[in-house]
Amino acid sequence: MSPHSSAQGDRMSHPHPQFPVPNHTGKKWRAGVLGATGIVGQRLVKLLSTHPWFELVEVAASERSSGKTYAEAVRWHLDGPIPEAARGLLVKSLDPRLACDFVFSALDSSVAGPAEEDFARAGYPVVSNSKNHRMDPDVPLLIPEVNAAHLEAIPVQQKNRGYDTGFIVTNPNCSTAGLVLVLKPLADAFGLEKIFVVTLQAVSGAGYPGVASMDIHANVIPFISGEEEKMESEPQKLLGKWDGARFVDAGLGLSAHCNRVPVLDGHLECVSLALKKIASLHEVREALRNFEVDPAVAALPTAVPQPIHVLDGDDRPQPRRDVHAGDGMAAVVGRVRECPLLDIKLTLLSHNLVRGAAGAALLNAELLAARGFLPSQIPSAEPQAAEPVAR
Ligand code: NAP
Repeated sequence: MSPHSSAQGDRMSHPHPQFPVPNHTGKKWRAGVLGATGIVGQRLVKLLSTHPWFELVEVAASERSSGKTYAEAVRWHLDGPIPEAARGLLVKSLDPRLACDFVFSALDSSVAGPAEEDFARAGYPVVSNSKNHRMDPDVPLLIPEVNAAHLEAIPVQQKNRGYDTGFIVTNPNCSTAGLVLVLKPLADAFGLEKIFVVTLQAVSGAGYPGVASMDIHANVIPFISGEEEKMESEPQKLLGKWDGARFVDAGLGLSAHCNRVPVLDGHLECVSLALKKIASLHEVREALRNFEVDPAVAALPTAVPQPIHVLDGDDRPQPRRDVHAGDGMAAVVGRVRECPLLDIKLTLLSHNLVRGAAGAALLNAELLAARGFLPSQIPSAEPQAAEPVAR
């Protein structure tokens, strides 16, 4: 079945007064989730169950899960029940013949690389959480509030790879997402030279079952495989530019130390910064508080009007108290103070599974929809015979 044929016939749209569907059919886009049974996939399933533009119609995962209903396959970790619309969906394998208009990928990185390429080659826009394609020279690594212009790389990617309607976009690693959101207004206002960051990262960042409880209980593990490399490379691309043919790095000096701590959700980061332009603490706080997001991005359903919250208390942010700021889409900053080594230091917190994963992917998909990158014609044609797909 081609991605744009419909297994369900004509679907009714569910108009949402605040967020009307931005396509001429007025119908929701049909979404699939690859890796729907994992920690990030479950968040996506839950967020999609009430989404004004997207409707979850397909779920896929490993051989362990495929052939079962979603309710049978998933070990549900979120508060509240499994969304009714997802319970009975049949979990499919990673065969790129799903009856949907685009897919989210929350696949384990051991399989995400080739699977995402297969789906893009078969015509599906792929909105990925996985690390595999983030640093590819023609794949946008996106935070809509930071670098929406990087979407311009999509036609180049399609040309380079011979993709037709398909393509891949990615969101950053969970600890990079919060960091770069906070760096963006500072880069715009003062310029950035050096960033030194120490993370305290939640256990949910490692997926399920993640770190063994005997290793993490009452303990700190000063190593997360591959994490420091991601934090030292991804901000360069996110804060850099697309020059029409390639991404140009931001040219930052970056050093990261990453630690796993016994916190359930929320990555805390202690950051020291060297700025290009001298700025007072007041100016830094104001730049963060007044971070102005492009109104078209701020109007997306998952965007929050204020993506950075600045707290004044000496002992904030704290994961347990602050992780849900802006429904998990805001970064919370506190302890802005002078740094005796660099210029400024601060502490930030962001929700690794929302701003750092499922919410980030959803916002990326909304940006794609609003900018016309998702197929807006959803024909109600009969399912077509499956085309063989190159693997
Ligand atoms: P997870 O809980 O381990 O889930 C992994 C998912 O991948 C499951 O749905 C699993 O299906 C599926 N999968 C594993 N092996 C497979 C195979 N051979 N074929 C098909 N499907 C397979 O991991 P997660 O934390 O949700 O992370 C998912 C992705 O997002 C990873 O690439 C991760 O690096 C990235 N990410 C995670 C976070 C975070 O905070 N957790 C943040 C940003 C990005 P089964 O259930 O059937 O095994």
